[in-house]
Amino acid sequence: MAIIEVTNLKKSFGNLEVLKNVSFEVQQSEVVAVIGPSGSGKSTMLRSLVHLEEVNGGSIKIDNDYIVKEGHYSSVQQIKGITARMGMVFQHFNLFPHLTVQDNLELAPKLVKGQPAAALRSKSSALLEKVGLSDKREVYPHHLSGGQKQRVAIARALMMDPEILLFDEPTSALDPELTGEVLEVMKRLAEEQMTMVIVTHEMGFAREVADRVVFMADGQFIESGTPEQLFGHPKHERTKAFLNRIL
Ligand code: ADP
Ligand code: MG
Repeated sequence: MAIIEVTNLKKSFGNLEVLKNVSFEVQQSEVVAVIGPSGSGKSTMLRSLVHLEEVNGGSIKIDNDYIVKEGHYSSVQQIKGITARMGMVFQHFNLFPHLTVQDNLELAPKLVKGQPAAALRSKSSALLEKVGLSDKREVYPHHLSGGQKQRVAIARALMMDPEILLFDEPTSALDPELTGEVLEVMKRLAEEQMTMVIVTHEMGFAREVADRVVFMADGQFIESGTPEQLFGHPKHERTKAFLNRIL
């Protein structure tokens, strides 16, 4: 069953066309890696899925509910209900600097879901344990390494019980020796059947963990396939040229 269905998505900034009729589906529990050159619209596509950008045309359907249908947006209330099923992890973590790690985790569910403090505390503790940061609960973000910050960001996203996790270059801001610990957490989520869309430059990770890899260029989805197909036997010249440059 498709949990994400995107059809003919269009987005322009002024007269710059950033998404040109992008269509794709993501199945329940699928891990999709999106690769492609800088400026090709990968972030804009992810941001559109969680309504951080408004598109100019096309449809986004999550789990049978439309955020936008043929260019017409659902009500703010409906959109909130739908985007709440998705969590997003950004390149630059976006942690709240003035809050401890556990308060970073608990703030949104406290405000949005009004869950009781004790329940939130046991949940944040469990998630920090899951990402290997039990000892950092009361620490402020500036005392953490980049890899630790990103693991906190992932735990924070999980606090909202998302059905889908979106990652925008989660390891691009990290020193190379810190990417492994973040990719390890993501790999575990994939094994637990989390549906994930991951924009990444980590080709080794995409090859190992993704069910499907999509190559995006110039605001279009050029081709997609299993890692084996896309890395081993790319069909399009653009894909071949891109892979030749980076591999
Ligand atoms: P990618 O993530 O693949 O590098 P982006 O989605 O960030 O690509 O950007 C695609 C294009 O849209 C780029 O040319 C970028 O400069 C432009 N762009 C992105 N966000 C904005 C914005 N808020 N205003 C104007 N142009 C933007
Ligand atoms: Mg980007």
